[in-house]
Amino acid sequence: MVGAGAAGLYAALVAAGTGARVALISRSPLAQTASYWAQGGIAAALAADDSVERHLDDTLAAGRAMAHASAARVLCEESPGRVGDLQELGVSFDADRGGNLALGLEGGHSRRRVVHAGGAATGRRITRDLSALAATDERIDVLEPLAASSLATHDGRCVGLIARPRRGDPVGVLARAVVLATGGMAALWERSTNPRGAIGAGLSLAHGAGADLADLEFMQFHPTALRHDGPRDGFLITEAVRGEGATLVNAAGERFVDELAPRDQVALAIEAELERSGERAVGLDVRGVDMDRFPNIAAVLEEVGIDPRRDLVPVAPAAHYTMGGVAADLDGRSSVPGLYAVGESACSGLHGANRLASNSLAECFVFGRRAGLAACADPQPPTVTIPSDEPATSIPTEQTRAALWRHAGLQRDAAGLAHLLEDPFPLARLIAASCLARDESRGAHQRTDHPGTDPALDGTHTLVGGDGEPRFELWE
Ligand SMILES: Cc1cc2nc3c(=O)[nH]c(=O)nc-3n(C[C@H](O)[C@H](O)[C@H](O)COP(=O)(O)OP(=O)(O)OC[C@H]3O[C@@H](n4cnc5c(N)ncnc54)[C@H](O)[C@@H]3O)c2cc1C
Repeated sequence: MVGAGAAGLYAALVAAGTGARVALISRSPLAQTASYWAQGGIAAALAADDSVERHLDDTLAAGRAMAHASAARVLCEESPGRVGDLQELGVSFDADRGGNLALGLEGGHSRRRVVHAGGAATGRRITRDLSALAATDERIDVLEPLAASSLATHDGRCVGLIARPRRGDPVGVLARAVVLATGGMAALWERSTNPRGAIGAGLSLAHGAGADLADLEFMQFHPTALRHDGPRDGFLITEAVRGEGATLVNAAGERFVDELAPRDQVALAIEAELERSGERAVGLDVRGVDMDRFPNIAAVLEEVGIDPRRDLVPVAPAAHYTMGGVAADLDGRSSVPGLYAVGESACSGLHGANRLASNSLAECFVFGRRAGLAACADPQPPTVTIPSDEPATSIPTEQTRAALWRHAGLQRDAAGLAHLLEDPFPLARLIAASCLARDESRGAHQRTDHPGTDPALDGTHTLVGGDGEPRFELWE
């Protein structure tokens, strides 16, 4: 298991639960996972007035005719069960006055269905509880800090990996299956809500082993990330705050968008407002919201000198979520036998061109479980020696991050993307090639030189294999 965020921890616990021995390899401490920072919660159709079909309809609508229906159905059907599993493992979710699970409302959801913990500290609570379980499970060997640097293949099958400690020699790990749970790549963009380590390491590892990557053009930009000259720039103000009544206002103090529309719409409306006004941020008016419900956000606002009872919070979009990833089936299998991907590093097509809020933590648990079980059923690896490697991963420079923000931001065109094809960071080149292949605008992918959506591309995903050449594939 590579990665100890929500997906890796949960998949490791499920695999260990079948009696398997699991090596859980993680490059960084818990507080540097995206999972730790998740604020809103887990989407699950649990309310009396909700249903799997409603959740599915909302997911497909948000995905802009690109969400892979069978993956979305699996998510919506299995998410309530996974919330129950987490409760059984000891995770305590927030309850309403009647003692039932308190369900939040977020953009794009037609019902209250977001389960949360500690107000907006959901990720922190869940990962803390799951990592304590993993640390004490005798079938799980936690290897940390250790960074997977390449995958080992034998006869076309993934048989293990090579990992590097901060100091010392590389370590070879032979395994019946490798599950990548390395998170997304939003930190490749200059302005991001993600921890710095979210640079798509799993995508680079998988590509190095010849696996297909999918939908790299679809990066979700969160509409309301704090705009601040300092380290808190990009801090996320969860959609749940808008769900509780916060409004967005322009420089004239006027509302300009339905705050609870799906993310792509709200982010683009803010971008248009910023272009029109020349301002760096719009205002999020939280004065009518009880910020005691969001203590970690209130604390950060206080830290940067913003009084939410009096001031507007300056916000602007930032790169937030990787809809694309390692192409994976409904059990997390990649195109290379023995190699799996789950959580944000995977692309089952579930989110299409625009992820519905709080579907990603749900994805970590639903598909983490499926991959954990499937990987345990793979055959034993052959007895081979893992050779020393040419690392498949590297660290992007600030120039690459600036170039991605400039040329593959909320709005892009062919001329800018062509510059990115020359970028020294290999994953940036694959992103540019995928963006260029899709001659249309859709969801999070907005091409100023192709402003319309091409219905002929509905359901058609962009794949890049070992040769780096994008191709289209229809996923039904
Ligand atoms: C601020 C913020 C708020 C969010 N809020 C929500 C929310 O409310 N609801 C929701 O559904 N989603 C939310 N998301 C998205 C969600 O948190 C992520 O999609 C999800 O947590 C990803 O989990 P993961 O396990 O796939 O990856 P991560 O949690 O990012 O974990 C990745 C792991 O991989 C390890 N790793 C990476 N590369 C290597 C390597 N080469 N070798 C070894 N280990 C490696 C890292 O150290 C880490 O342990 C939010 C995201 C952010 C950033």
